[in-house]
Amino acid sequence: MKILMMGPPGAGKGSQSAKVVEHYELPSISTGQMFRDAYNNNDPIGIEAMKYIKDGNLVSDDITNEIVRLRLSKNDTENSFLLDGYPRTVAQAAALDVMLDEMGTELDAVFNILSSNDVLFERMEQRRVCKSCDTTYHLKFKIPKIDGICDVCGGVLYQRPDDTLESVKRRLEIYETKTRPLLDYYEKKGILFHINGMQPFDNVYNDIELVLRDI
Ligand SMILES: [Zn+2]
Repeated sequence: MKILMMGPPGAGKGSQSAKVVEHYELPSISTGQMFRDAYNNNDPIGIEAMKYIKDGNLVSDDITNEIVRLRLSKNDTENSFLLDGYPRTVAQAAALDVMLDEMGTELDAVFNILSSNDVLFERMEQRRVCKSCDTTYHLKFKIPKIDGICDVCGGVLYQRPDDTLESVKRRLEIYETKTRPLLDYYEKKGILFHINGMQPFDNVYNDIELVLRDI
């Protein structure tokens, strides 16, 4: 099972991806996560990437393709994986197709999680993430038991530098101009599935699972 999760920033694709990954035991390939990990490890690729990310900009295609290529070259992604946050441009999608072609495989399904801009702003302003295990919280809908502390591991919760209002606006603009054209790209391949992201978490997940059962 090789799947790709798409949707504007804040549509909930991270949380849905986490549940799919857990249920189907898929390796998760999240470029955002890989860049944040690299940054926290003082890795040059992470430091370079964070210059773009903190202002809500896209990391360059070359750096992003390279980090994905390295990840896909590991054995665990041979039969299945979930891509979250990559590709984000048509050039990245083309690069991904080349990588998959070299592996002798292709994507089975691309999910587009739909949401309105109001919901997106609200979600991102209220989002907090654990520094240690990356579990996400929402200050209204998924409140940590102890303020500022992760329920899962006791780590410190923080607001991602790209979750501020200015940065969110910029990410939405970039999504519209650079990432939305990808929907056509995958629609033409006949593997695009639209999911209504403005429902309770479990309903969104059920809609995704209905598709996954058939592939
Ligand atoms: Zn945690």
